[in-house]
Parts: sequence; C-alpha cells; structure tokens
Amino acid sequence: MNQAYVLIVDDDNALLQALPQAIYLRMHDVKVDTCDSALEALERIKQNEYDAIVSDIKMPGMDGLALLGKIQELCPRTPTLLITGHGDHGLAIQALRGGAYDFIQKPIERDYFIAALHRAIQTHQLRIQVAEQQQTLELHAKSLEQTVQERTRELIAANAAKDEFLSIASHELKTPLSSLKGMTQLLRRRLERAGSSEAGSLANMENSIRRMEVLVNDLLNISFIETGMFVLHQQQCEMGDLCRKLVEEYVAGTNPPPVVHVEIPDEPLMVSVDVERIGQVIINLLSNARKYSAAGSPIRLVVRQDSGECVVSVRDAGVGISSEMFPHIFERFYRVPGIEVQTGSSVGLGLGLYISKQIVERHGGRIDVQSVQDQGSTFSITFPLSSVAEVAVDLPGIIPHTQKH
Ligand code: ADP
Repeated sequence: MNQAYVLIVDDDNALLQALPQAIYLRMHDVKVDTCDSALEALERIKQNEYDAIVSDIKMPGMDGLALLGKIQELCPRTPTLLITGHGDHGLAIQALRGGAYDFIQKPIERDYFIAALHRAIQTHQLRIQVAEQQQTLELHAKSLEQTVQERTRELIAANAAKDEFLSIASHELKTPLSSLKGMTQLLRRRLERAGSSEAGSLANMENSIRRMEVLVNDLLNISFIETGMFVLHQQQCEMGDLCRKLVEEYVAGTNPPPVVHVEIPDEPLMVSVDVERIGQVIINLLSNARKYSAAGSPIRLVVRQDSGECVVSVRDAGVGISSEMFPHIFERFYRVPGIEVQTGSSVGLGLGLYISKQIVERHGGRIDVQSVQDQGSTFSITFPLSSVAEVAVDLPGIIPHTQKH
C-alpha cells in the first residue's frame, strides 16, 4: 500500500485527538488531517485527495450526512466512514443509503475502527489503480487504432499502385506483342512458300509469343477484375452449341490434338452469358485438364441440366488434387506445390482458376471441383438457366424448349 492520507472530521476534540493516535499506533505509513467542522472539511477535500474520510454524523451546522452528500459530488471515489451514536440504527442505514462506505458506532471499538479504515484505504487505492490501468488501456487501444488506420491507408495505396502497375504493364505489353505475332506469322508463311528450312524456327518463335500472350492476357484480366473495369456483355446463348464449338476450336488449335469426348443433351439449354468470357473459362478448364494429365489421356466435357441450372463439367484422368488444396486453387497466383505440368507448355501464373471463378460468379454462377489424387479431376461450372420469358425478350422467334435437330 502507498502512503495513505486520511481526514477525520469531528466536533468532539477528545475524539479528534484519540483517533489519530489509535491510527498511528496500529497502522504504518498513514498521514492524518483533522478538522472540527464539515465546512472546514470541505475546504480540505477541495485541496487534497484523501484515501478515506471519517466523519461524525452529529455535528452543529452542516452534519455528517450533508457532508457525505458533498463528498459524493466532489470526490465520489473516496470512501467515507460515518460515526453514529450507540444504537442509532436509523442513522446508520441512512448513511449507507447515502453512499457511506461503512459506519462506526460509538463508543468506538479501536480494532474494529482500524480494520474498517484499512479496508476503505485499500478500496480507494485499488479504485485509483483500476482507473489508471483503464486509462492506459484506452490510450493503448487508441494508439493501436491509429496504427491500424495508418497501415490500412498504406496498404490501400500500395494496392492501388500495384493495380496501376499491372494495368499499365499489361496494356503496354499487349500491343507490341500482337504486332510481333503478326510479323512472325507473315515471315513464317513467306519462308514456307520459299521452301526455307528456317520456317521451323519461326514456328517455335510463334509458340513462345503465344505463351507470352497467355501470360499478358492473364495479367490484363486480373487488372480489369481488380480495378472494377470488368464489364460483361451478356446475351442469350445455347450452352451445348457453345461448348461444341469451343471444343472444336480447342482441339484444332492444339498440337498434338487432345482427345475430348463431348456429351450434350438433346434439349437446348439457354443461358445468359458473355460468350467471350465463358468461352475463356471453358478453354481454361480444357487446357488445365490437358496440362495436368498424361499425353493422350482422355478428357470429357459434359453439358447437362440439373434442377433448373445448366452445368458444364470438364473431367480428366490426370494427376488430381488433394482435397485440402481445393480452397486454395481458386486463389490468385496459387499453384499446387509439387504438381508438375504433364502435357504441353508449363506456362502459367496460377491465375487461370482465379479469373475463371471471378467470371463465373459475376454471371451469378459457381465453380466447383471434385478430385481424387492420381485419378483425375472434374471441374464444373453452373449457371441459372434463362426463363422462357427472358429468351423471348432477347431472341424473339426462338422458343427454348423445342427439341434440337
Ligand atoms: P496454372 O496457370 O498454374 O494452371 P490455375 O489457376 O489454372 O493456374 O490452376 C491453379 C493450380 O491448380 C494449378 O497450378 C494446378 O496445381 C491445379 N490444377 C488446376 N487444374 C487442375 C487439374 N485439372 N488437375 C490437377 N491440378 C489442377
């Protein structure tokens, strides 16, 4: 306990001398002030912070209860002990109801008095400690909040700078890359026509340019997504037809051509999609199926209707993915550690599935994966089917539920 500071108020001079003596005899490190009226006590209370105040209830002029009321206003944390006459229970109860910490009955039993005073001093010092700690905590919380705000501002700025860099870099790379591709194609054709053996080197160059194009397009897509400039141009489309065309294009443009089995239902499945973007997703799934399977391993693309939704799934019999990786493969720049590309080019930034997920979700759809390690994976994308009314508005003349020929 720190040095305690006590005020005793009593109009009885004998008690005013006896009580401090009792305190000094039984307690260490205590300083006692005395005064013989409530008014003088108020002056002292305004000047000093006491750990406890002891006051007689019955005093001429302002009595102990009135003084207690003032103490509650001036220093509510300071415990007040009131001295009552013998058997004055009514006054004692009044004192407690008025906020007194305890009451002491006359004749004052010294040990009881000291014990009560000791408790009061301890309570006050604890209250001060708690208040100080609370203040320190509040200051700490405020400074933490400030640090978090500053860090958040810095992160937002850094993120914006990164987005801007991605956007500028990918835009600036795309144009020279396109002209490079055009010129290389032209040159290769000329060399082929002239029967030059150099044509093969240019074909290799074209492949490298195509791989670079994939990377730049991924970066460009990411930059569009992150900066909110990703706009969909949705139109009614028959999913079976779209998938059939995409598979044909994909097989024709891939060397050696992969084996893709296509299963499409007889009835048309109309969906409202951005054909370019969804085409990009399906090609990405087909290309992953090829990349992560042994050369020549069959790929199966199935289009089906399920509870009012259109599902397109791409299944491969490749390396598969362990289930704990499922949540991560749709994250940006994530590639499953230890999984090697089995067929074709190893180009990839771990962005394909992230971009696909964004595209599908912006269509109100979802992308799922099922996979067993070493046995293969099935990636499915699901979209809401268009209603007859939606199709009738967008494509007058087409009735979606007729059979296909
Ligand atoms: P990447 O450019 O690396 O192919 P993706 O975002 O398309 O990026 O895929 C993320 C990771 O998910 C891949 O690196 C691969 O480890 C895993 N993955 C994707 N598709 C398949 C698949 N069909 N079979 C096995 N693993 C796959």
